[in-house]
Amino acid sequence: MNRVACPRCGEDHNLATHRMAYDSGTSSGYISGVATGSSTDTSWSGHSFSGRSFQQSNLAAQTAPPDAPISLLRLGGAAFLIWIVGFFVIRFVGDVVFAPLKVLAVLAGALWVFLSPVAIVVLAYRWRSSKSAAYKREINDWHQRWICMRCGTSFNE
Ligand SMILES: [Zn+2]
Repeated sequence: MNRVACPRCGEDHNLATHRMAYDSGTSSGYISGVATGSSTDTSWSGHSFSGRSFQQSNLAAQTAPPDAPISLLRLGGAAFLIWIVGFFVIRFVGDVVFAPLKVLAVLAGALWVFLSPVAIVVLAYRWRSSKSAAYKREINDWHQRWICMRCGTSFNE
């Protein structure tokens, strides 16, 4: 196996994988405390606060892994929203614009309610599949990526 070396400066010791660099520069934790407020605004005095803190170094930001594709739950939520909104749009168009053609509007509404979920699910699934495939390629590339600690060059082994 060949020794890994930086293609730009030839450094072969001071190297880190992107994963190592990213993990070492990222920390998440929990912060909490009590707000003291100012003398003129006491409404917040004594109120406790808490929240997650997220810190990232420049190095970690530079070596961050690719974003994971949207979760199925979120995708399902978005699809449901499109379905609901589409239904009301058809209802609105049917009631206001095509008022004389009430039958057509009702028909279009019924078609949308029963047929669009199939189309939405198929389209959403295909869209997510292509995203997932792209993500797999990117994450594989990320796992094989190194960063030179001497000159900052990022390279693929
Ligand atoms: Zn280098």
